[in-house]
Amino acid sequence: MPIYTYGCSSCGLQKDVLQKLSDAPLTVCPECGKETFTKQLTSAGFQLKGSGYYATDFKDSGKAEPKAEPACAPACASASSCPVAGGAA
Ligand SMILES: [Zn+2]
Repeated sequence: MPIYTYGCSSCGLQKDVLQKLSDAPLTVCPECGKETFTKQLTSAGFQLKGSGYYATDFKDSGKAEPKAEPACAPACASASSCPVAGGAA
């Protein structure tokens, strides 16, 4: 089952939600109750897109901390053997 990251544009709540593919997307924020709860493109599966993940992540979260591990860890043993980290960084 995929995990979706939802965000509320009213109160700023972010929450990972485990949903079936057949489930309807959530719209009501569990925190403030407004219908401003929408699916974000920051789920774990999005990391598979490689360096593009970082640009999107920075824009959404505002964090710009460099990561010690390559994006595809633990698939790659180290950054030097990782085509994603080696190419992007
Ligand atoms: Zn909310």
